[in-house]
Amino acid sequence: PPPAEKYEYQAEVSRLMDLIVNSLYSNKEVFLRELISNASDALDKLRYLSVTDSQLLKEAADLDIRIQTDKDNGIITITDSGIGMTRQELVDCLGTIAQSGTAKFLKAVKESKDAGTDNNLIGQFGVGFYSAFLVSDKVVVSTKSPKSDKQYVWEGEANASSYTIREETNSENLIPRGTRLTLYLKRDDKGFAHPERIQKLVKNYSQFVSFPIYTWQEKGITKEVEVDDDPVEAKEANQDENIEKKKKTKKVVERYWDWELTNETQPIWLRNPKEVTTEEYNDFYKKTFNEYSEPLASSHFTTEGEVEFRSVLYVPAISPMGKDDITNPKTKNIRLYVKRVFISDDFDGELFPRYLSFVKGVVDSNDLPLNVSREILQESRIVRIMRKRLVRKTFDMILGISMSENKGDYETFWENFGKHLKLGCIEDRENHKRLAPLLRFFSSQSEDEMISLDEYVENMKPEQKDIYYIAADSVSSARNAPFLERLLEKDLEVLYLVDPIDEVAIQSLKSYKEKNFVDISKEDLDIGDKNEEKEKVTKEEFGNTCDWIKKRLGEKVANVNISNRLSSSPCVLVSGKFGWSANMERLMKAQTV
Ligand code: ADP
Ligand code: MG
Repeated sequence: PPPAEKYEYQAEVSRLMDLIVNSLYSNKEVFLRELISNASDALDKLRYLSVTDSQLLKEAADLDIRIQTDKDNGIITITDSGIGMTRQELVDCLGTIAQSGTAKFLKAVKESKDAGTDNNLIGQFGVGFYSAFLVSDKVVVSTKSPKSDKQYVWEGEANASSYTIREETNSENLIPRGTRLTLYLKRDDKGFAHPERIQKLVKNYSQFVSFPIYTWQEKGITKEVEVDDDPVEAKEANQDENIEKKKKTKKVVERYWDWELTNETQPIWLRNPKEVTTEEYNDFYKKTFNEYSEPLASSHFTTEGEVEFRSVLYVPAISPMGKDDITNPKTKNIRLYVKRVFISDDFDGELFPRYLSFVKGVVDSNDLPLNVSREILQESRIVRIMRKRLVRKTFDMILGISMSENKGDYETFWENFGKHLKLGCIEDRENHKRLAPLLRFFSSQSEDEMISLDEYVENMKPEQKDIYYIAADSVSSARNAPFLERLLEKDLEVLYLVDPIDEVAIQSLKSYKEKNFVDISKEDLDIGDKNEEKEKVTKEEFGNTCDWIKKRLGEKVANVNISNRLSSSPCVLVSGKFGWSANMERLMKAQTV
């Protein structure tokens, strides 16, 4: 056979391995989760391809994962019958970082170092294959792709800058298809090769993997075996010739080794929602999306009739991308299945509007074709219906959080995803009715705690027709605006729009419960206290003064008028009825909208 070829790792890989080994040592056992998840991905890919090419299954019909341990030598082998890798794929996948998840991890580590925060990143990111080196001195990957007629062996050692690839020559190691990983454990980590330890870890980390995982376990069966009669007893028995000789038996336990199914493979979304506990939903969420904290809400539903699909959706408790990046299209938050076959996690944009890109979950449809592509999804009437239902369920979920007894939940939600909903007001006219009740603002009567539009409306004066707002860059500058004086004097509540996007969102809504939103900084604000007689008198008295001021200021202002909207300030600058508000103008200048 040709000799093993030596390859250098891409520079980032060496850096990643360093990081993994040095910063994640306290959580070593995650290596198993990562390797099982790779095996499961490889099985998903094979199952997906076999739908259109059933020949693929012919070498090995069973799709499963088998884990064997040798505790005396500290060796673990993990075998899957998945898609395997060709020689080139071994180089591309295990020698370079092409995967976005891993690249993101590196970036996050760097950022958290720069920021001086030392959060536990392993829980939030999959670090993949290289986590095998957390516990291993040496890792051997023997793999057979259906695309190649040869099986190849990748071999790498901890702290090395290179690896080798050769052809598999040992006939004992040949597999029909898939990948076999052999981990030679470090001296201090040999304990992982205990069958019970592995069984526990599999149960803990991989209970939602949808392929069977078998572990190699020692078993015992009890057998009855005949034993020779006790000589003394036999002698006694012989003395009494009437009693027939009885054969004696005894129970013994016979030990042997066999594969044992270690996980449950029924996907959670196929189960009856009544029988799934909140804890199970939360566990599924954390394990599927590598999340650290519990979700704020979840929703499990089935729709039948016109379009049939099942789904479990979640609202996360934190926004991983940071509060400002609200339109990242590549979130991989929605896992799409067709008839239980995993299709892709790249179709978030087709299934959800981008302002709801923070929602995570799984969607399993019986009506889509298995070879579904982005183009098919975009054209499909079925997807349009699914999208509508998914969006409605999401609003129900968010409304649920807002009504939760635990007030802090909605505050958390709003802090993380309030911006998303405001973007929704701008982009999704059709759902204004569902979005508006979820919005929150500070107001002249509630400067510390945000209120809802419902609370505002309830607090309106009997004669009040409109919802008043003022846009400013902070609560304190809103409070000090001269426009506010007369409204406060009349005890009218004014919403403070202090987030740059607020004003555009409110203007998109136009009204709430048939009450118009009115910007109090615009000219001709009518708060229902016109006194025409008095106005006439003032106009006669100060008309000339106004003309004089207008002349002096010239083009700098459009108009100088007498106003009844101030109580203690001598004058105020307002925007024209059809112009931008001062706040908008500031925003346009800063180009943040
Ligand atoms: P990720 O799983 O995020 O892609 P990993 O580091 O875990 O990153 O794996 C890198 C790549 O190696 C995978 O994307 C896959 O192409 C390949 N790979 C790893 N394990 C297997 C396996 N058991 N079978 C087939 N391919 C695998
Ligand atoms: Mg992986």
